[in-house]
Amino acid sequence: MNNGKVWLVGAGPGDAALITVKGLNCIRQAQALVYDRLVNPELLQEAPSDCEMINVGKNPDHHPVPQPEINQLLVDCARRGLNVVRLKGGDPYVFGRGAEEAEALAQAEIPFEVIPGISSSIGGLAYAGIPVTHRDYASGFHVITGHLRQGNQPQDWATLAKLEGTLVILMGMTQLEAICQQLIAGGKPASTPAAVVMHASHQQQQIAAGTLATLVEQVAAQGLTAPALIVVGNVVDLRKRLTFIPQRQPLAVIPARVLS
Ligand code: SAH
Repeated sequence: MNNGKVWLVGAGPGDAALITVKGLNCIRQAQALVYDRLVNPELLQEAPSDCEMINVGKNPDHHPVPQPEINQLLVDCARRGLNVVRLKGGDPYVFGRGAEEAEALAQAEIPFEVIPGISSSIGGLAYAGIPVTHRDYASGFHVITGHLRQGNQPQDWATLAKLEGTLVILMGMTQLEAICQQLIAGGKPASTPAAVVMHASHQQQQIAAGTLATLVEQVAAQGLTAPALIVVGNVVDLRKRLTFIPQRQPLAVIPARVLS
């Protein structure tokens, strides 16, 4: 049997309609769909009724499926001749180990394509009224993970503290207190605006905003937890002027098109 093909598709930050047209077309023609915990369930409903739906975000014990097993699953599905969509939150190549999945496919000589998505690190902040750059406040931004592979050197927060651009930290909630403390110790003023955005761009989005000195307390008071973005920089203050109420659009209004 001929090999199938795998599309590594970015689902966008949360609001289902933020997926790309190309990504939605792919889902609508998938024969197997392998998805994560952070993917909006509305997108899953767009798959054909006979599509194999495989959740790798959680097994019955609530442990995520180990990465080598996910890689192998993608290879196996493609070797069964299926068109496989690997749907990942945000952009497939921004953390979340999408690059490792692509490497496994390349290694197994399975044809694949990457369909980029809107990363929560940029689009998620926009939905919280926070522009990641602004000529007057931040001339760059840095997207950082708070969670490194075991055994790797920890992030050098003292060096990151010296950067002028906006810092966006993903997977950082368990370390929030340490991150704020180390950024202050590294020289970032304690008065630097900082926020946590939980469930960015979803209906249940919540924001705690303050400064590096106050953020931990505010997050605790509001009970915010992962999945969340931590953002540090003067752009955070712009949310006072730039907050908006998103108009949500059902996916059904986006016409299906045949994949070329
Ligand atoms: N590829 C994804 C990131 C995967 S890492 C992207 O481009 O967005 C997973 C982390 O991303 C989460 O722990 C959280 O820090 C962040 N994240 C993803 N979606 C989010 C959302 N809707 N709201 C807040 N944080 C989110």
